[in-house]
Amino acid sequence: MREGDKSWRDGRDVSLTGADREALSRILRRAGLRATKQRLGLASYLFDGGPTRHITAEALHRRAGGAASLATVYNMLNRLTRAGLLQKLDVGFGPAHFDTNLLPHHHFYDEETGALTDFTSDGVSVRGLPDAPGGREVSRVDLVVHLARSARSR
Ligand SMILES: [Zn+2]
Repeated sequence: MREGDKSWRDGRDVSLTGADREALSRILRRAGLRATKQRLGLASYLFDGGPTRHITAEALHRRAGGAASLATVYNMLNRLTRAGLLQKLDVGFGPAHFDTNLLPHHHFYDEETGALTDFTSDGVSVRGLPDAPGGREVSRVDLVVHLARSARSR
C-alpha cells in the first residue's frame, strides 16, 4: 500500500505533491467537480499513473474506508465517465466496472479471482455476427473472454 492511501483513509490531508494535486484537480474540474479532499483521494487511486484500474463503485468505496460515502463515489465515477475520463464497463454480471483505460480494448475475466485484464483489440475480429435489428447498426463490440484454470495446472 502506498503512503498516500493511508493518510487518505485516516481523513488527513492526501499526501500528494503539488504537481499531483494540480493534475488531479484539473481532472476533477474537467468533470465539473470541485477538488475536495475526498475526491482528490479517490482520484489519486484511479489516476496514479499505475496500471489500468477496473473497479466498481463499491470496491472504490471500500478502499476509501469511509472517507467518502457510496453516493459520493457513484456520483464522481459517473461524472468522470460523462466527461470521457473513465469508461463504464458492463462485463455481463455483477455491478458495472469503471475502467481507466480509454483506448479501444477487450478484457480477460479470471473466473477464479474476478480480475479483469486488458488486451488490445488490434488484430482481433469477430465474424458471423447477425445483422443488427431493423434501424440499428453495431456501434462497437466489447469482448469479455472468461478464463478458468487450465487442465494442465490442476
Ligand atoms: Zn480495461
